[in-house]
Amino acid sequence: MSLIASEILPFVTPETQPFWDSVEAERPSIPRCQACQSFYFPPSPVCPKCGSRHIEWAALSGEATLYSFMIAEHPWPEWGSDGPMSVAHVELKEGPRLISTVVDCPQTPAALRIDMPLQATFRLFGDRKMLCFRPTEREGTRS
Ligand SMILES: [Zn+2]
Repeated sequence: MSLIASEILPFVTPETQPFWDSVEAERPSIPRCQACQSFYFPPSPVCPKCGSRHIEWAALSGEATLYSFMIAEHPWPEWGSDGPMSVAHVELKEGPRLISTVVDCPQTPAALRIDMPLQATFRLFGDRKMLCFRPTEREGTRS
């Protein structure tokens, strides 16, 4: 069975539209509770920590670390590559974790390291801009 990009892209809802808009603008934002100051993801109208409905959208620093990952060997031409791609569980500096991919490095277990510092970047998946991550400069200079 073959999937096409439109079948696997996240469905945009009124709750997630601000996230996708911020990614399209390359200034990613996620919800932050005004009552307890927690960032959280995925978006919802209610803070999952304290139940407040006083939510704002706050820009991310772009800093993150690699929490976990796997390598998907199945090619996804929508990424503009026919090689393997990492599927990364990324922990944002602000706290929440999300699923993304690490780019600009070999897509091998040897090149990816748990807790490695990452920086937000953007790639197209089909025609949708996606929040991705790349190793930070200091990671590249580490021997
Ligand atoms: Zn809260």
